[in-house]
Amino acid sequence: MSDIAANIAKIRERIAAACQRSDRNPDAVHLIAVSKVKPAADIDAAFASGQHLFGESYVQEFRDKSPQVQSPVEWHYIGGLQSNKVKYLRGKVAMIHSVDRLSLAEEISRQWQKIEADCKVLLQVNIGEEGQKSGADSEDLEQLVRDVAALPNLQICGLMCLPPYCADAEEVRPYFRQMRELAEQIEQLELPGVSMNELSMGMSGDFEVAVEEGATLVRVGTAIFGERIRKNG
Ligand SMILES: *Cc1c(COP(=O)(O)O)cnc(C)c1O
Repeated sequence: MSDIAANIAKIRERIAAACQRSDRNPDAVHLIAVSKVKPAADIDAAFASGQHLFGESYVQEFRDKSPQVQSPVEWHYIGGLQSNKVKYLRGKVAMIHSVDRLSLAEEISRQWQKIEADCKVLLQVNIGEEGQKSGADSEDLEQLVRDVAALPNLQICGLMCLPPYCADAEEVRPYFRQMRELAEQIEQLELPGVSMNELSMGMSGDFEVAVEEGATLVRVGTAIFGERIRKNG
């Protein structure tokens, strides 16, 4: 078995164990392999071992690399996104996790209107209220949900976060719990066209804690593909 296949198998076991500890159905948790900065061949190798969902963070890299991938993967866009680059994702990604402002949602809506399709989106929350991080503040979230929900060609499926970095995954637990509570509050508004079925949270260092707190989409890069040595936009 290749390293990538072995790593994926190990992560799936750890997700299943976290589900068991927290009395959750493992079918409700999906692994997104974060393949940014990694070559197309690694993505094909992961697909061959049964991994179908992949996350990318840089539009330019995604444009260059996605045509080189042979396998029929499902792409999720998880990184920061400028409105003028949304057109390069149009029709190519199944979900955009990083919608943090109305103007970006409006552009996604406009682009998906052109192909007469709906784009699934998650609203990104700045759960740690960190100045330099993107994401809506918790207190602005309800208004953002209401505004985005009014747009055509777009489905709100849940929330996403990148919590503050902590060396100890246990320290992140309260943020993941707040995310679940926020999702429950939004759900109670019963807004038409809004579901809070997905919680995208947890990365290589903390995905088990995220699963215990209700994550449905975990975004794991390093623990599958190894360290990233290069970064580009
Ligand atoms: C890179 C990235 C990840 C994966 O991080 P790892 O620590 O390598 O697992 C997850 N989410 C987002 C938004 C990322 O940009």
